[in-house]
Amino acid sequence: MRCPFCGAQDTSVVDSRLSGEGDQVRRRRKCLTCQERFTTYESAELNLPRVIKRDGSRVPFDSRKLRSGMARALEKRPVSTEQIDTAMSHIQRRLMSSGESEVPALRIGELVMDELRQLDQVAYVRFASVYRQFEDVAAFREEIDRLERQPTPEVARQQLDLLGDLKPES
Ligand SMILES: [Zn+2]
Repeated sequence: MRCPFCGAQDTSVVDSRLSGEGDQVRRRRKCLTCQERFTTYESAELNLPRVIKRDGSRVPFDSRKLRSGMARALEKRPVSTEQIDTAMSHIQRRLMSSGESEVPALRIGELVMDELRQLDQVAYVRFASVYRQFEDVAAFREEIDRLERQPTPEVARQQLDLLGDLKPES
C-alpha cells in the first residue's frame, strides 16, 4: 500500500488487530521511506450493487421488487414462503460476494432463473419466458423441449400443468 505522505510504494504493517465488532481489521503501517505511520481499515464489501437497467439507467437494488417477480412466477405453485426466502438470500449473497458495485438487471434475472430452476420448473419457464423475452414460439418450444428431456415424473407432471396453464393465453 502506497504511503499517503510521500507516495512511496513500500510500507510495512507494524500492528494488526480486529476493530469495530470484529468485522474490521485495523492495521498500523509504517512507511519505509519517510518513516511516517498511518492506519488502514479493511472490511468486507457487502453492499448490494446498483442495478443497470436495459436502458442504461441505474437504480438501487430493490429486494421487494425481486421478491414480487419471483412470487408472480411461483403463483399457485407448490413452493413455500420459506423456500422463496431461502432463494432470495442465495441471490443476495451471490450479489454481495461478487463485490461488484453495479450489476446488469439481466444478471439478476439469471440468478433468479438459477434458483427457480431448482425450486419449480413451471415457475422457471414462466419467469424465463418473460425475462428472456423469447423471440418466437420456436425459442419457447426449445426451452420446453429441453425441460422435457429431464425425465423425472415430477417434471413430466409439471410440464402437463404448464401446457394446461398456457392454453387460455396467446
Ligand atoms: Zn512515506
